[in-house]
This record gives sequence, C-alpha cells and structure tokens, in this order.
Amino acid sequence: MIINKSNWLVIYKGEETNIIRVSVLGSGSAGNSIYLESSYTKILIDAGFNGKEIARRLRIIGRRIEELDALLITHEHIDHTRGGGSLARRYGIPVYLNPDTHRAALAILGELPRVEYFNPGSSFPLQDLVIEPFYLPHDASNPNGFNIYEGETKVSIALDLGYITNLVRERFQQARLVILESNHDPELLQLGPYPWSLKQRISSKLGHLSNQLSGKLLAEVTHSGLEGIILVHVSQINNDPTLIRIAIEKSLRHSPPKLVIACQDKPTQLLTINGH
Ligand SMILES: [Zn+2]
Ligand SMILES: [Zn+2]
Repeated sequence: MIINKSNWLVIYKGEETNIIRVSVLGSGSAGNSIYLESSYTKILIDAGFNGKEIARRLRIIGRRIEELDALLITHEHIDHTRGGGSLARRYGIPVYLNPDTHRAALAILGELPRVEYFNPGSSFPLQDLVIEPFYLPHDASNPNGFNIYEGETKVSIALDLGYITNLVRERFQQARLVILESNHDPELLQLGPYPWSLKQRISSKLGHLSNQLSGKLLAEVTHSGLEGIILVHVSQINNDPTLIRIAIEKSLRHSPPKLVIACQDKPTQLLTINGH
C-alpha cells in the first residue's frame, strides 16, 4: 500500500516526493520535541513538553496537533517523554519506541492507546517515511537516534549522546539535514555552577556532546548535498550560541546553507529539505 502510494506520487506528483519539512519545537534540558512531515505523514520525535504546550508550538508553525500520525521516542528521560502519554491518549496517537525504553518510561508515559515496538538497527516503514533507529551512547535504557527517509531525502537525528561512535559516524553519512546535540562548551561547564557529580555525568561518555565533538562529527559527515544543520539540546548555562558558531565554523571551514541553533523556548522555523 505504501509502495503504491509512493508510485502514484512518482507518476502524478513527482514534485512532492523527496521533501521533508522539520521544525524543532523546542530543545534543551527542560524539554525536547521535533516536528517532521512529508507530503503524507506528520510525526513528532519526543514529547518533552506537555500536550498543551506542544499544541501551542505547532500552531506557531501553522500545524495542528490533531494531524499527528505518530510519536517516536528516543529515550525515557523526562525532558523527552513528559507529555508523551497524555498526548497519545488524548489524540489517539500511536507511540513508536523500543521495548527497553517503554519499560523504563512506564511510570512517565502511563497507559498508551497503541504501542509500536521497533528494534534499534532495523528499519521500519511509517506511511511514506522509512525510519531507521540506531543506538546512541547515553545514560538511558537503550537510547536511539533516527534516520528518517522520504524517497531520496534523509534526515539524521541524534539528541543525547556522550561521544561519537563509529555507528553514529556511519549512520550520519549522506544526510540532507542533520539534527545534532551541541550541549556544552567544556570550559564553561568546568567553570560553571553545576555540582562536580553533574559535571562528571555531562562530560562522560554516556552524557552529552560538547560543541567540539559535535563540530568534529559534522566535519566528518559534511558533503555537498548537506542542506542544513540544526544544533539541539544546547545548555542555557554551560553554552553560548557564539561559542557554538565558532566551534562549528572552525570545524567545517564553511557553513552549510542553513545553520540553525534551536532554543528551549520557541520553535525554529519550518525548514524544507528537498532531496532533488
Ligand atoms: Zn537524556
Ligand atoms: Zn535530553
């Protein structure tokens, strides 16, 4: 059915294939949620705000919460799951996650109307999208990043990760849009107000990615077809947009056409990624 639908698209509406639109509705330690759509499918990746707030942010970018086809969850931490259960129940939205994440998030998510399990490493179709989950190193139960494909267009997403594994490096190749954590500046983190144990956790291999590590990965995966980069999970205390730009631009030598730093309080504009 999915194949027929995309064949129909190829034949009659070629201009509508290979297009993905994305807005990071908000990102940081207080909440994360990403909206992504193709011509036929509208999904959320993580719901770290309550349903009302997600609905409000969707309205800002001209979309309605009732239109969502699915919620994908990266891992159980509350800044990614806070609103997931109530949103799924209220709007009857199926929740896609791996069984380990589900077990770890049971208390936060509560009863869900429909659960769809995926296995990290195995791709699965979601209407006209193909989702490829992959493992990330982070202090959660089996946390995932995602590659999301619509035809030739590929979006790579990694929100919380402590370091760059070979798997992440490999999964991020040839993406048209990269959504990647750029959490902290190591010096600001060390000098900042956090207790020593939290500083240790953030900078550990199961913590969060520094601007420098983020820049290093971006330098390795950049290519002529890369249309945009959205940097996410930026710490409001241990980071600064100017430091991010310096670190990223130093690594990349030249910026891609679109370089966006997502913030905690408002959605980014809806970016159109066109794989043609
Ligand atoms: Zn986390
Ligand atoms: Zn997080």
